Amino acid sequence: MILRKILTHSQFFFYRKQLIPPVVNFIRYKSSEVEKAQTASKDKQKTTVFDKIISKEIPADIIYEDDKCLAFNDVNPQAPVHFLVIPKQRIPMLDAIKEDDRDIMAELIVRAQKLAKERLPNGYRLVINNGKQGCQSVYHLHIHILGGRQLGWPPG
Ligand code: AMP
Repeated sequence: MILRKILTHSQFFFYRKQLIPPVVNFIRYKSSEVEKAQTASKDKQKTTVFDKIISKEIPADIIYEDDKCLAFNDVNPQAPVHFLVIPKQRIPMLDAIKEDDRDIMAELIVRAQKLAKERLPNGYRLVINNGKQGCQSVYHLHIHILGGRQLGWPPG
């Protein structure tokens, strides 16, 4: 192997030990998130984990709350800062928004911007995953806010 020729024996084993676990974890994470998205329910009546966070049935690391929306840190962060902004009313996905939802959508984006500006002065990204191929796993509309490191493009 070329890598083995360049590196000394001990360097090779050191880097192998350092590099392989994160790469394996990344691949595992990728496939599990995709799997979740493939099997996630789109049943609009079904209670999601986010409904339970809104009702405080289950705990979350809440960073902002008012009568219309809630923001909390993502339990499986993909960047040093990764939080979600969600509406309290049930909207399953971006595809489901209607003309009447203009105000709440504006509210969510303005809230995301306010919270992001406080924590991420060097830039950030807003993401809304929509549907199976969009990798949506929770069918309660949410905006991901990611930052705190140089983000790449294009996304996977
Ligand atoms: P998506 O794949 O766009 O539907 O994103 C759903 C997000 O919700 C993922 O990033 C999950 O890590 C996150 N998530 C799921 N359950 C929780 C929870 N209990 N608290 C915080 N974030 C969660």
